[in-house]
Amino acid sequence: MERVAILGSGMAGWGAAHRLHQEGVPSITYDKNGYYGGHTASFKHASGFIFDEGPHVSFTKHERLQKLFAQSVHEKYEVIHARPNNYWKGHWIKHPAICNLSGLPTDLVVNCLCDFIGAQHDQENHIEHKPIDNYADWLIASYGRTFAETFPMEYGFKYHTTTADNMSTSWLGPRLYRAKLEEVLVGALSPETPDVHYVDYVRYPSYDGFVSYLSLLPEQTQINLRHQLVRLDPAAKELHFANGVVAGYDAVISSVPLTELVPMIAGAPPDVVAAARKLAYTSCVMVNLGINRSDLSQGQWTYFYDRDICFTRLSFPHMFSPHTVPPGCGSIQAEVYFSQKYMPMKGSPEDYVAPVVADLKRCGVLREDDKILHTNVHVSHYAQIIFDLERADALATVHAYLDDIGVAYCGRYGDWLYIWTDEAFISGENAAQKALERMRVGKSA
Ligand SMILES: Cc1cc2nc3c(=O)[nH]c(=O)nc-3n(C[C@H](O)[C@H](O)[C@H](O)COP(=O)(O)OP(=O)(O)OC[C@H]3O[C@@H](n4cnc5c(N)ncnc54)[C@H](O)[C@@H]3O)c2cc1C
Repeated sequence: MERVAILGSGMAGWGAAHRLHQEGVPSITYDKNGYYGGHTASFKHASGFIFDEGPHVSFTKHERLQKLFAQSVHEKYEVIHARPNNYWKGHWIKHPAICNLSGLPTDLVVNCLCDFIGAQHDQENHIEHKPIDNYADWLIASYGRTFAETFPMEYGFKYHTTTADNMSTSWLGPRLYRAKLEEVLVGALSPETPDVHYVDYVRYPSYDGFVSYLSLLPEQTQINLRHQLVRLDPAAKELHFANGVVAGYDAVISSVPLTELVPMIAGAPPDVVAAARKLAYTSCVMVNLGINRSDLSQGQWTYFYDRDICFTRLSFPHMFSPHTVPPGCGSIQAEVYFSQKYMPMKGSPEDYVAPVVADLKRCGVLREDDKILHTNVHVSHYAQIIFDLERADALATVHAYLDDIGVAYCGRYGDWLYIWTDEAFISGENAAQKALERMRVGKSA
């Protein structure tokens, strides 16, 4: 019997285990944490509030995954009509902002419209003032300079911790709405606009947080928790863990962040280690608050553009499922971003509680008479992948090396992509398929 090792028990690890399970191939999954789920873990606090590691809802449009997730929670899930919104200098703006400019200062709206019309004209007539070399160029060509500089570039700086001219566009996909002129004009003239956001309906487990979607994982693989990989020896086909365990493997599938995995590989060439070091990512301090009322927000999540507001995004988990909070209560998860490469964190994560609460009051989400019933801080060392201009070459070097030594990589931090849970799951399935094929070739050789 082949020994197949999966490193990491998040969505990608589950995707890999699921694919192997379908083939009747047993696997062992190792995770450094004392719980499974990785980024999709949920934490139930004694106060009665549940917070996920970061705000998570399922956006998936894949029917196969919708069914699998539904089966995992015995069909008990919420279907939520997504109504994200934006906050900019005291204005609450429906999402996406480009289609909802009415109510903003007149000179700003006029400049946004003039620039947007100019940009559309140039696009339609194939007039290129400057080649699109980076995300900033793309934003200006798509939306016009005023909107680009006031909204997405400001948000992007808070979210990615670097400037748009230092980023590529390869991560965009459907993420930024490509508005039509009519939609922009209607939104500038009227407060009533149709919903055009690509995320329309999202799902969330009714009970016990997002991690419930992974409840089938322990049935599909043997999970060894508290096993932190510290060394991978591709020649000996051995995995060494911090707890002293050494395990052999015939195939290994890894969702461990590449920046950590590569330096752990025995004999990794210096140029590959140097390439892995160039890969940039953000870290996120999540400030989780439980409040004694539920009418905290119109939208389930809000994007914040102002640099003097410390958080980048707020989510309201009680609006994902009312069972994440005690009756009548509400909850807020604030995300504050940093990165080792571009914006190192100052002080300790706990230092962000007071500024978050102060900014929540400043923008009117919290009132002076609100009671904060729960506070905790959670840090995701790996949050978003930064698509800076060094990423593509460095990643190609790292992936080519892993292919060479037969380590199948997957997931957000193995593929090093800006992917969601469903895409991470599929990435794990694909990596398992690759490992299966490699084992079959090895057997027949
Ligand atoms: C703030 C935030 C909000 C998000 N919101 C959404 C959302 O609303 N919807 C959505 O679909 N997606 C969302 N995502 C993306 C989603 O979290 C990821 O796509 C997905 O969870 C990635 O899964 P993964 O298995 O690839 O990685 P992970 O979940 O990170 O799994 C990797 C695993 O490897 C383990 N590991 C790491 N190092 C070692 C080691 N040395 N030894 C052993 N184990 C190790 C970790 O403990 C972890 O369990 C969000 C992400 C963030 C950061």
